[in-house]
Amino acid sequence: MLVNQSTPTSAGTIFHLIKTGAATTRAELARHTGASASTMALRIDELLQAGYIEESGEGASSGGRRPRNLAVRDAPEVVAGIDLGENHAIIVLLNRRGETVAQAVHEVSLRADPDTVLGALIQHVRQLTDATPGRTLAALAISLPGPLDARTGRLLSPTRMPGWSGVDVRERLEALSGIPSRASNDANSMALAEYAVREGSVRDLLFVKAGSGIGTGSIVDGSLYTGFRGVAGDISHTTLTNAPAIPCSCGRVGCLDMVASGSAIVESVRERGGEAASIDDVLGLAKQGHPGASEVLREAGRRIGEVLSTIVNFFNPQVLALGGLLATSDAFTAGVRQAIYTQCLPMTTDLLEISVAQAGRAAGAVGIAWDTLEKSLQPEYVDAVLQLAGA
Ligand SMILES: [Zn+2]
Repeated sequence: MLVNQSTPTSAGTIFHLIKTGAATTRAELARHTGASASTMALRIDELLQAGYIEESGEGASSGGRRPRNLAVRDAPEVVAGIDLGENHAIIVLLNRRGETVAQAVHEVSLRADPDTVLGALIQHVRQLTDATPGRTLAALAISLPGPLDARTGRLLSPTRMPGWSGVDVRERLEALSGIPSRASNDANSMALAEYAVREGSVRDLLFVKAGSGIGTGSIVDGSLYTGFRGVAGDISHTTLTNAPAIPCSCGRVGCLDMVASGSAIVESVRERGGEAASIDDVLGLAKQGHPGASEVLREAGRRIGEVLSTIVNFFNPQVLALGGLLATSDAFTAGVRQAIYTQCLPMTTDLLEISVAQAGRAAGAVGIAWDTLEKSLQPEYVDAVLQLAGA
């Protein structure tokens, strides 16, 4: 573990200012930090020599010579993000600037044993890295469709991953690959991607993943909130008022999962005469104007919105981002909006942005990779790396 104290004028802090765009010329950096010109020159040399930054073009002149702009320098190391879904995995490679430099999709089956699945994923990541010129793999970050215990790192009875309960995926990935690894659940990973895509314009964000399962991820004052045990935001077994008494996998009745999850929606559409075997089929039927499909999607949106309204009232987010396959349906998002605007106070909703998530299909993979990258570029970490390099 690298331990170091960053100061307001340490190289790590200056790197952070350049990275966030808060200050990108020597003059701006000196103004921002209050450092002397000589200290600033020393720090910038340190960052240039270590390859953390580069000079890129010229900034705006305030008279005299145009100042040189400083920017984060790309490096060969990439962080691989993996979004493990029920039937496929999306893999992305992010460079130091947080840009996706390669992406791939592979079929997987969660019914296989964990080591087999993870071993195949590692192989896919290595192949993708090898096929991307000049890149080396620095870390693995995986997004999982199940809840993780933050204290032990183990999966907690994931309903969509039978055979994975109690598995410490991070530990298994590291053991199988020898590469530093991280694991997170999908809704949290996607919330991180949504936060990243908005580039600091939002501090409080509630992300909802509505697909085969329903989950939420919360960014509170710029940080992911996971709760005491790490399972904050798992709303799928919230009991609804006036819900049909359908028995749920959790052993109770009236759960949100039983009326608004992917399988519940498919079932309801079939009862209304629609030929559907998957959410994709339901979305297709709704597009073709099948009244039953649209009504079921709108009702699922209303039900999820009903649960979200309590959270929105409590949490007062700036943005409610709707992600997952269901969020591509206008009927579904209309249902969510209707419930939120009916059940939340105007002072909560007046300035609330309810929108379809912007982070795209690879959000789970990008989000957890981006967060892993961010952690490795924090001021304390950069200062520690520079100190070790100079020692
Ligand atoms: Zn339940």
